[in-house]
Amino acid sequence: MNTFLLEKILHTDSPSGNEKEIIDVIKANIYPSAKVIIDNLGNCIAYHSTTDDEYKVLIIAHCDEVGFQVVKIEDNGYIRFRPIGSVSPTYLPGSCITILNKNGKVTGCISYVPIHVQSKKKNFELDYNDLWIDIGTTTKEDTENHVDIGDYISLNNGLFHSANGNHLFAKGLDNKLGVYVLLEAFNALIQKNLPLSLYVSATVQEELGCRGCKAVINKIRPDLVIVIDAGICGNIPTQIDSKFGVVELGKGPGINYNPTNNLNLNRIIENIAVENKIPFQRTVGYQTNRGTENAEIQTLLEGIITTHICIPVRNMHMSHEICNIKDIHSSIQLIIKIIEHISCIDNKEDTFIPW
Ligand SMILES: [Zn+2]
Repeated sequence: MNTFLLEKILHTDSPSGNEKEIIDVIKANIYPSAKVIIDNLGNCIAYHSTTDDEYKVLIIAHCDEVGFQVVKIEDNGYIRFRPIGSVSPTYLPGSCITILNKNGKVTGCISYVPIHVQSKKKNFELDYNDLWIDIGTTTKEDTENHVDIGDYISLNNGLFHSANGNHLFAKGLDNKLGVYVLLEAFNALIQKNLPLSLYVSATVQEELGCRGCKAVINKIRPDLVIVIDAGICGNIPTQIDSKFGVVELGKGPGINYNPTNNLNLNRIIENIAVENKIPFQRTVGYQTNRGTENAEIQTLLEGIITTHICIPVRNMHMSHEICNIKDIHSSIQLIIKIIEHISCIDNKEDTFIPW
């Protein structure tokens, strides 16, 4: 584990639509011999090929995180804002945020009426109209010196380690963990010079409806795609309905068996995990046919072989998400072994045709 690189990625601000900061970190840390391009949407694509085989394998991880955008500046200097992606306003009061302006960053705090003087009942649902951002100014003019309409906003509540060293608490683990796993696996694989056309991409705007990955698919036209993304955890005190295919923290990456994934590929991956003693969990995801990039990608072009490897995360889309460091390590190992195995398959097209 390269803890320095992991924490560098986790400290970036990358709200959907403004992912420059994390893309810069990715570009700076890709193995030097890889070819790297940034496409028209801002997706980062890297590739390495040592073969004339036209079969293309692509691994992707979205690099955007849920965030916000400045909508209006009030006369008293407070900022009104809207979500970028799916974030419940109920979880937000008291959270520190970073506003990404044209010159750099401004710190602020998402604010709400203190509990002592609230008029609403307990256990209510908040609305974005109930909240505002305070950046320490008192007039519209003063706020406008620091913030423009349309500026992107990122959660900013720090990175912490659990006392036993097993867990990390940070914003945006969905899907900065996936980006870290992608980078570490690709950098290891590239040095093995496998007989395979291997592409990887850190995609943008996933939280706005899996937008970035579609441009990547059109550009690369891959045959097989592995999506690495965070997976919702089920081992929490309050019940998660049994219809959801959740994973648990600390039990290894999830192999998603919902219909958006290729059954043959999943069975091969499961065998690889067993043979290499890599912990894994079978899951069916929390939805049958949407919500992740593999679901969007599967039906593009003439149909694409897809699977989704999910890294367990608690508190998804909250101010601090939680992960287990062992799951990160296991995910890297699994991705490396999957790609090594695929590179040795002679008739890849036939292997993955479902039946
Ligand atoms: Zn995600």
